[in-house]
Amino acid sequence: MISKAISRTVCHAIFCTFLFSAGCLPAQTPDTHTNAPAGGPFRLPTANANIYERGGEPKFFAPTAPDKPWTSGSFGCVRNDGWRLHEGIDILHLQTDRRGEPTDPVMATADGTVVYFNTHPSLSNYGIYIVLRHNIDGLELYSIYAHLSAIRPGLKTGDSVKAGDVLGTMGRTSNAETILKERAHLHFELNLLNNDNFAAWFHKASPGERNDHGSWNGQNLIGLDPREILLQEHNPAANFNLLSFIHNQTDLCRVLVRATNFPFLRRYSMLVVKNPTAEKEGVAGYEIAFNYNGLPFVLMPRAASEIHGTARIQLLSVNESEQKANPCRRFVVKRGSRWELANDGLRAVELLTYQP
Ligand SMILES: [Zn+2]
Repeated sequence: MISKAISRTVCHAIFCTFLFSAGCLPAQTPDTHTNAPAGGPFRLPTANANIYERGGEPKFFAPTAPDKPWTSGSFGCVRNDGWRLHEGIDILHLQTDRRGEPTDPVMATADGTVVYFNTHPSLSNYGIYIVLRHNIDGLELYSIYAHLSAIRPGLKTGDSVKAGDVLGTMGRTSNAETILKERAHLHFELNLLNNDNFAAWFHKASPGERNDHGSWNGQNLIGLDPREILLQEHNPAANFNLLSFIHNQTDLCRVLVRATNFPFLRRYSMLVVKNPTAEKEGVAGYEIAFNYNGLPFVLMPRAASEIHGTARIQLLSVNESEQKANPCRRFVVKRGSRWELANDGLRAVELLTYQP
């Protein structure tokens, strides 16, 4: 998941109405604690607060190498000339011990519950990492803290934590890359969960491949941009709201699926918009808007009378300028003059809608 390689869209009237109302949702009560952002529930996961300083990015983000820009430590299509995804942010260390090893405490970004941790660095490119589940504005969100040197002794799966509670210590663990002391960092993610049946799907979709982390495999978590979220909620005038933030993502494409009962619909029911025709005639499928990272951010029920063609999965539209700007997820591909779901896009839609 660190590399989880993994025509213009028409705005529907109902969708636009929904966006408008979502934008009017009440803001969070302002939090006036020291390093807490002004407007929302998230805190920085380490003491490094340079993200909020003008021009402070080089002191906040760890680039992939000294000659690379700080943006290579930010979220999105930021590596390999825009063709490699980084699905979190890399936050630079502030302090080291006498051997030059990072010692920054790593803290919970919001109130939540410990749902998973891995203490065997050899089993993941994340090394030692921890996953928390949060409920933010009614949305289930998962934060990840990776490359740790240690998890706080006594912390157990199922424990409740408060925003700012120490989870462990920053480190350099990974089974895939050597993280030099100079760029020691916390790899931090904010994600939605794709499918509760991930392990069964993976067994079927990738026979013979190992899945050591159950549902907590990176392919089952879909990243949001933590920098955008932290900056927006630090600005009181932005009235940050997580649901609005998700609904305001840019379409990469729209896909129709002839599936009506997959777990994402229940977990993220607030992302499902109303369609009176489907309500009246019955739901035969869903039209799903995906952003460039494969995040399903609007799901509209569709009646049989609104669905053309018989294919189980249909690509309805592609936002070409967005695909050009952010191509690294390789979700769609143009063959001749026709856009199609690429293998990775098809795989993502299959996982999203999988029912054993
Ligand atoms: Zn990273």
